[in-house]
Amino acid sequence: MISLAYDKRISRLKQAMESDDLDAVFITPSSDLRYLTGYQALPLERLTCLIVSSGQTTKLLVPRLELPAAQVHDLAQFDIELVAWDETDDPIAMLAKLTGSVSRVAVADTMWAQKALAIQSALSATTVAAGSLLSQLREVKEDAELSAIAKAGLAIDAVHDQMGNWLRAGRSERDVARDIADAIVSSGHERVDFVIVASGPNGASPHHESSDRIIEPGDPVVVDIGGTMPSGYCSDSTRMYAVGTPSAQYFASYKILQEAQSAAVDGISAGMTGAAADAIARDILTEGGLGEYFVHRTGHGLGLDTHEEPYIVASNQKPLVAGNVFSIEPGFYIPGKYGARIEDIVALTETGLVNFNNTSHDLAIL
Ligand code: ZN
Ligand code: ZN
Ligand code: ZN
Repeated sequence: MISLAYDKRISRLKQAMESDDLDAVFITPSSDLRYLTGYQALPLERLTCLIVSSGQTTKLLVPRLELPAAQVHDLAQFDIELVAWDETDDPIAMLAKLTGSVSRVAVADTMWAQKALAIQSALSATTVAAGSLLSQLREVKEDAELSAIAKAGLAIDAVHDQMGNWLRAGRSERDVARDIADAIVSSGHERVDFVIVASGPNGASPHHESSDRIIEPGDPVVVDIGGTMPSGYCSDSTRMYAVGTPSAQYFASYKILQEAQSAAVDGISAGMTGAAADAIARDILTEGGLGEYFVHRTGHGLGLDTHEEPYIVASNQKPLVAGNVFSIEPGFYIPGKYGARIEDIVALTETGLVNFNNTSHDLAIL
């Protein structure tokens, strides 16, 4: 368990609310709630909601039966008051009463529409999404978050290091994926988030998971894996394997990809826009004739969610700053033939870029 200053995060949120002219923000169970309180709750039909409102004590409204689970977090030390509602209470009416009179509020991006609409009509306030407000805070990582993500990186690297034990011709993608999932947990993750084992032509689909396809000699295999650590922070790393020797053409294309990925790792720095960062790998792949096969953005932010701000994409004109953590994962996908991707999670710091995934970037021939 990492201990974090949740009260400081909430006061930064309040500052951001002020510049956004917001009277209150409502956060239901989500990574946003975990970020602000450390409390990890499931989004269920009964309302659990953090009420952050200017000039008031922050309150966490919880169903009575969830009270013991919430109390574990000792939220009083962060000046958060727990308020329980009973099975026959109307939690939306209680929320409205606790909030008081407001004219402009924000709700968590992932709040169920049912709840967001009920809050909106109970308060009769202009209601907007809180996403950009929260990501302003979440996209600049604190030192404790950087070390939690570094640990996640080490854990997923340890899984890639063992790939030779599982990945071979004659086995199905699904069987290999099952072994990988077990290793993701035994390497220290609390939960497996995804296991992509995409062999041969399946590699041409960037988000293929796994299938009953039997891996054949000569197949390139995309292995993109990630999980969530007990700290709540995620891992995400892609490496390329080949079972036996793939075609010379594949090798040549892989070399270009490897060059593109490492140029991005070496070239991205604070102050550069997401768009400029995206262009580094893309330009090299385009020069190498692979640009049209690089069908996705270069990367996504990572933290309590595997995909969060900032996005390394041509439409992002915001400059990257120290504290940002994101993936650098260019690839190429040739329909009917094969695909490839190389992915690291990196952090921009005051002193340069830190790479959290340090297994070899070469095509591993198994
Ligand atoms: Zn992805
Ligand atoms: Zn990724
Ligand atoms: Zn990935």
